[in-house]
Amino acid sequence: ELERRVAERTRELKERNEELEAFGYSLAHDLRAPLRAMQGFSQALLEDHSAQLDPTGRHYAELVSEGAQTMDRMILDLLNYSRVARTNLDNGPVDLAQTVSAATRQVKGDLAARRAHLTVDPALPAAVGHPATLVQVFANLIGNAVKFVPADRIPEVRVRAIQRNGTVRVWVEDNGIGIEPQFQQKIFGVFERLHGADEYSGTGIGLAIVRKAMEKMGGAVGVESTVGTGSRFWIELPRLEAPGAA
Ligand code: ADP
Repeated sequence: ELERRVAERTRELKERNEELEAFGYSLAHDLRAPLRAMQGFSQALLEDHSAQLDPTGRHYAELVSEGAQTMDRMILDLLNYSRVARTNLDNGPVDLAQTVSAATRQVKGDLAARRAHLTVDPALPAAVGHPATLVQVFANLIGNAVKFVPADRIPEVRVRAIQRNGTVRVWVEDNGIGIEPQFQQKIFGVFERLHGADEYSGTGIGLAIVRKAMEKMGGAVGVESTVGTGSRFWIELPRLEAPGAA
């Protein structure tokens, strides 16, 4: 009887959770329509009625337009986050070398713009996870490793793996600005950022996606960091056991 009630309660909770996630998803979609109106009409003010506005008025119209654009980016990022949160990932064997190289292609532009050096461990092992989602995870981590580096320093990014009993831990290391200890957990939250958008661009969702994705894969994520010297983010996945291994 107890078992039956636990199972029923679990199913109810799961359903309610799914409803809530679907609600958030459609809400985010609906929020984009009025935003487009704000963007469109502030743009129309600037383009067609600019002569009737004084400089302060034009400046305000620009701020409205920029604010609407920022919010639209945040909503798109939230949709992306909730897609990861809602999807049941079919975990299977992943070739980490291939995954990292696909992620690197995604952030190629950022690497080139900063003339960054990227070193990838040639012997990345196989693990268990969701390949496409892992590409996004690595693209976020490598993208950050290149971005959060002082402008006068060449980014040095290193990806390497260590295997432990049953798990693979992959490190993404940088020589960037580092993160103060009291913020090292906080940055994995939705929209949590430590800098203004004019200093370093972004919306603060990347690491929240990484954390959610790792949770979904039965893995984990963490960071070690020294302010001024650099950060080492790691993700951990179950190891792919060789066929026939005990
Ligand atoms: P975004 O990159 O859009 O700001 P993230 O969720 O990826 O969002 O990161 C959240 C915050 O964590 C960043 O704004 C930054 O303050 C900090 N952070 C992330 N990665 C690094 C890094 N490699 N070095 C220093 N700070 C970082």
